[in-house]
This record gives sequence, structure tokens and C-alpha cells, in this order.
Amino acid sequence: MTTAPPNSTSPTTTPLSFDALKLSLAVRRAVQDAGYTRPTDVQAAVFGPISTGKDTIVQSKTGSGKTAAFALPLIDRVVEPARGVQVLVLCPTRELALQVSGEFARLGRLKGVVPCAIYGGASLEKQVDEIRAGAHVIVGTPGRVLDHLKRGTFDPSELKTVCLDEADEMLSMGFAEELNAILERLPKTRQTLLFSATMPEAIRRMANRHQKDPESILLSADQISPDSIDHFLYFVGSQDRVTALARVLELESPDRAIIFCNTRDETQSVATALQRRGFSLDYLSGELEQSARERVLAAFREHKIQHLVATDVAARGIDVTDVTHVVNFGFPSEAETYVHRTGRTGRAGKRGVAVSLFGPADVGSVYMLRLTYGIRPIERALPSAAEERTRRELERLAALRVESNVTLDDDTAALARRIVAHDDAERMVGYLVKKFLHQATSDALEKSAPKEERVVAAKAPSSAPTEPPPSEEPAVEVAKTVAAEEPAPARRPRSRSAQEKPRRIDVHGGADPGLEPETFESDMGEVRVAVGRRDGARGGDLARLIRDKAGIAPKDIGSIKIYDRFAIVPVRAESVDAVIAALEDATFNDQPLSPERGKLNEPSLVPPASSEEE
Ligand code: ADP
Ligand code: MG
Repeated sequence: MTTAPPNSTSPTTTPLSFDALKLSLAVRRAVQDAGYTRPTDVQAAVFGPISTGKDTIVQSKTGSGKTAAFALPLIDRVVEPARGVQVLVLCPTRELALQVSGEFARLGRLKGVVPCAIYGGASLEKQVDEIRAGAHVIVGTPGRVLDHLKRGTFDPSELKTVCLDEADEMLSMGFAEELNAILERLPKTRQTLLFSATMPEAIRRMANRHQKDPESILLSADQISPDSIDHFLYFVGSQDRVTALARVLELESPDRAIIFCNTRDETQSVATALQRRGFSLDYLSGELEQSARERVLAAFREHKIQHLVATDVAARGIDVTDVTHVVNFGFPSEAETYVHRTGRTGRAGKRGVAVSLFGPADVGSVYMLRLTYGIRPIERALPSAAEERTRRELERLAALRVESNVTLDDDTAALARRIVAHDDAERMVGYLVKKFLHQATSDALEKSAPKEERVVAAKAPSSAPTEPPPSEEPAVEVAKTVAAEEPAPARRPRSRSAQEKPRRIDVHGGADPGLEPETFESDMGEVRVAVGRRDGARGGDLARLIRDKAGIAPKDIGSIKIYDRFAIVPVRAESVDAVIAALEDATFNDQPLSPERGKLNEPSLVPPASSEEE
């Protein structure tokens, strides 16, 4: 992670040196040895209240030095080396527990303060020995700490302070129950500290329940609202990026989007290209005059244009609450930029969608996003050329139906009936289409179907039949990862073998051989719906429909595979029945979905014994 000094951007409120904290000599030396020259904002702000024993609730963003912020006053003023366990720090993961315990060890070394890290997956006995050997500070994950409390191997009777570190993380990982159980078992007289990078409602409730008259210190938070935003990626390889963007916009059909570009030049060219394709939007970039900028902004605010194309700089200070989608035309190279951009949607209690195009050069940035902020966008595939063709055919058909809504004279109607009934009907109608219709409808469709796309369609292999082969190869593999939000020790088991894994597009490419792409495992089930490619169904549409009808998040919907007459929608096994019930009366383009249970995974991978359906 970052090695830059935290809070380097806001030195004004920060004391120039640690001298201001009046640390004891041993701790002052340890701070110096750690290479810390001056306290960060949060360290300066919380030192007083914590060292005087006050309950404190602290919001301060990731990387701002929260660990030392609680470790320093606790080591300096609270822990007495002659006594037993006096401080308990709870952390969401084993890695963080080790990190925090390391910080206590290094800052407390000269004073003789001994920490001990306890977490699941390691030997209980060894941890018991360490606690008995005279640990003053226990740093642990909630599950394991509760274990020790229940077994009586951790005696909290001398405990002075408990600190919930990365509290938002712990709650979002589902540790609320354990935390409550732990806090109930600690002495009532203790001091309770709560540290978090964000302050969701659940944390405030936790504070209300377990803290007494807390001092509240709210510094800038991580600008991240992962729960209200669904993140998606579209891989763009060699195809034209603007064409890909146009397709993505058609697929996702956002009500109101901010489309981010990495450069000023891009904003203009992207906006112009999209306007030519009939999208209602305008662009903002740094080079625009103030009056032009205000005009564009006003048009966007007043819904006169639907979308806005902008750079990060130009979008600064725009405060529009009802943005439904943030689209990254250029994938940001900094994870923090991604978080800032996408934080413009999913506000005010509404859900938001973040959609990013990414290419081979962005794989590292996608990986960093996951490492730094735990954001794991779901990968979706752009429609294949065949799907695009189907879509365009349906559009032409719809246009023809509207256009042909005239009363036919008797002669024409009689001839039409004869043509339709004839054995060579397809050839004859085809001839009419070719001769009269293509020109007319392509004129009409000029706006919605851009030239480049038609070139792509024309280049599609001519052998591709209109009807798919009987094997019913899925037209599109909408690969995705499931954000498996579970407590760290219980990680999902690795896939059994490469051949057993559902195919997916690997976000990590070759850059990270150690990291197994997450795939659906045995906790996934499937729903089969009776609409497919021939009904014009696309993965995005079906996912949206299921989200609306069944109320499950797109992140819990797997790779939707579209076949000719049906589609297979992977969902979590426990929600299969609910999804089926919710879709019972649903239709897509007037076609009933007729949902039923699907076989799990690809048919060839299902062991015969387990395939009870169909
Ligand atoms: P947070 O918990 O807020 O995300 P950490 O406590 O993990 O932040 O600290 C982030 C990094 O900053 C760590 O590498 C830590 O060693 C370093 N750090 C903490 N305090 C200081 C300081 N006063 N000066 C310089 N570096 C610091
Ligand atoms: Mg931390």
C-alpha cells in the first residue's frame, strides 16, 4: 500500500512534532525509531480524549494513521506493564490483527508493552500460552476472541479499554453478532473506542448501544459507499472504444450518467461521437469558458440533457444527487480516483451503478482497486456480433410494423397472401426486403445504428447461420465474480480443477498468477427462463428484470447464458425458489419467462447423479 506520509495534504491543523503530545521518553523514542516525525491529524485529535479515558468514536480515512492514533495513548497512558491484559483491539481480518499487533509491539517495545495477536485458523493452545506469558494487549479477530472469552482462556476482568478497529469493515463482514457478544462480556467500567473509515448508520447504532457519552471525532471519511453501488466492467480489446461505449450505454440504458474520460481531448471527441449516435449529452472540460461550463451544467441539472461527459477536474464540485450511472470511458489509473468518480452515484439512499470499460493495459488498475478498496467489479461481456445482428433485425421488424400500419388495397393484399403461402415465400420476401426495405429502414435507423457497427456486423463470419447450431452454444459468456463477503478465515475453497471451472474472462490476466479467479461454486443454483436470443433477450436486460422483480442485487446474479430459445441465470442456491416465484408472471417482450430450475453449471460438467431435473 501507500508509503507516502498520511494526511500530507492537510498539515495546517497538525502539530509540527510529537512533542506536543508530551509522550513518555520510551514511547517518544519508539515513535522516532518508527520514523514518524509528526503526528497525523487523527493522531493529534484523539490523543487527548483517549488518554483521559473517554469513550471515543472516530472517523478518519484509510491510510490516515488510525492504528498509531489509538496505540500511542493506550501504550503511553493506559497500559501498566506490571498487570495483565488491559487492552483488547478487534480487527476484521487476521492480516490486520497482525499489522496492528506489530504496531503495538514496535511503539510499546521500550516501555515493555507486549501485544498478542489471536485469530482463527491458528493453534488455540499457542495463543493461550502467549496470553498467559504476560500479554498486555490482545489484538484479535471477533470470532476467535469470543472463543477465548467463552473458554475462559482470556480473562477480561482487568480490561481497561476495548477498541473496535476498522469497525465498518467488521460490520460489513457480518461480525455484528460476535462484536455484541464480546462487548457484553467485558467489564462495564471499560473505555470503548470505535475507529472507522466511514460512518454508516449501523456503526452509530453500535456506538449508541455500547458507548457512554462518547467524544465524536469526524475527520474526512473514505469516499466510498460500496453497498449502494453495483460495479461492472466491460472488456474492450481491439474494438473501437467509442463504439464499445455506445453499446454499453445501449445495454445498460442509464437514466442519467456521468461519463468520465481521462483526458480533455477525449471528452470532446467522445461527446461528439455519442451525439452523432443520437445520445442526449454534452461535455465539460477544463478548457471550456465559464459561461459554457455553466450552460452545460444547468442543462444537465435541469434534465435537458441526459448524460454528461467530463474529466475528473471538470467534474469537481458538481453536486448532482440523482446520477444513476457513473461510466468510466477511460479506466482511472488510481484506485482513489475510481472511488471518487463512482461515489457520485448511489447517493441519498438510492442504488447506483458504476460501469467501466477496461483494456489489457488496465488490468493492474482493476487489481489495485480490489486490493486497496476491496471493490470487485463484476465483468460483463459486450454482445457478440450475432446478438447485435438479432437486435438490429428486431429493430427493423418493429420499424416495419409501424411503417406498414396502412390499409392495403385488395390487389396488394391478395398478392401478399399468395406470396406468404407460397413454398418460395422466404426467397421472395427476402428479395423484397433487399430491394425495397434495406435502404428505407437503414435510412430510418441511421441515427441509432452507427456506421462502425454495421461494418462490424458485415465482417461477421458469413458462415454464421441465422439459426444457431443445434448444440446451442451460448452466444455470450457474461463472466463475473461474486463478491464473497464473508469473514476472512472462512475463505471459499479453491476450485477443484481448471477443467471444472466455469469459463470466465480473467480480470487479472497473467499479472497475478497467485490469485485464483473467483468462480461459482456449490452454493450457486440456476434458474432457466424461456426467453432467449430469438426473443432479443440480452444478459443486461434479464439481469435488470430479475433485479426489479426478485429484488436481488446484480452482484448475486451470475453469468447469464443466452441460448436461442432460453437463458440460464445463475443465482445463489438459496434464492432459486424465490427468484422462480418472483418471475412466475413476468414477461420479456410479451414472452412469458416461465421460470424453472436449471441444472447447475454447464451441462457437461454436471455429474449424472445430481441432475435430477429435466
Ligand atoms: P489507517 O488505519 O488509518 O488506514 P494505518 O494506521 O494503517 O492507517 O497507517 C497507514 C501508514 O501510515 C502505516 O504504514 C503507518 O506506519 C504510517 N504512519 C502512521 N502514523 C504515521 C506518522 N505519524 N508519520 C508517518 N507515517 C505514519
Ligand atoms: Mg487501520
